[in-house]
Amino acid sequence: MKIISNIVELQNELFKHRKEKQTIGLVPTMGALHRGHASLVERCVAENGVTVVSIFVNPNQFNDPVDFQNYPITLEADCDMLSTLGVNYVFAPSVNDIYPTPDTREFSFPPVTEVMEGVHRPGHFNGVCQVVSRLFYIVKPVRAYFGEKDWQQIAVVKQLVRYINVPVTIVECPIVREESGLALSSRNTHLTTQEKEVASKIYAALASSISYAKSHSVEETHNKVVNEIEQEPLLQVEYYDIVDGNLLTTVHSWEESTHIVGCITVFCGAKKIRLIDHITYK
Ligand code: AMP
Repeated sequence: MKIISNIVELQNELFKHRKEKQTIGLVPTMGALHRGHASLVERCVAENGVTVVSIFVNPNQFNDPVDFQNYPITLEADCDMLSTLGVNYVFAPSVNDIYPTPDTREFSFPPVTEVMEGVHRPGHFNGVCQVVSRLFYIVKPVRAYFGEKDWQQIAVVKQLVRYINVPVTIVECPIVREESGLALSSRNTHLTTQEKEVASKIYAALASSISYAKSHSVEETHNKVVNEIEQEPLLQVEYYDIVDGNLLTTVHSWEESTHIVGCITVFCGAKKIRLIDHITYK
């Protein structure tokens, strides 16, 4: 496994693989890797001749500078983990490598960029599109792997691919959870043991709402989830949106779409760590 920060160096390596007709898979990450990331990497290794994992904490996608400053960086441990998974290249560029000049491009794909995270984290998806498009141009992967944990991000990236017209297949990978049900996230490292325990109530509330939804309206189901989570003083729901799984627009009845997903964001604990999760109703 080679760890490369220089774009030209990476491209020279990948050129050789392309000449030998090996397919290149990319797993974009921001590091602080856990089993959720590992599941994407394992799938990429299984499906491609060459696997590139990028590790880059992208400043442009943080709307909160404190969140950016506090984002965990564990490059050595990340590389140790990746070397056991059959990864060929870790691409760990600097901010200057990725953005030699400021990226002034603006991406907007209504409705998917305008709802939920689009409302609560202004500029976030613009930054995601800026970095993902650059990674696609640099690595030119045949397949790129994204986690369903970030449900809305996948919808946005699919729109991005159509917009910039690059020949990459987006592979969606299921969410990986702790045994308690808590969705694995790099931000969980900021939670205390007690907060982690409390945070598991988010998924418990989502999961139990599936059977409730069978005999209650969308609004009643929404309220039940929010109330159940907020009974816990350490948890504060930022939004819970029950939406069409593809368009991400709010639905008002269960008949409105054949694919319905509930997307939630919750602040946890004194440091207000922002946790996201989702559940599929149908
Ligand atoms: P991040 O490092 O948070 O930007 O995540 C990199 C990729 O890993 C994204 O496509 C995420 O959706 C995915 N990912 C993060 N956590 C999980 C998880 N618990 N299960 C599955 N995929 C995940």
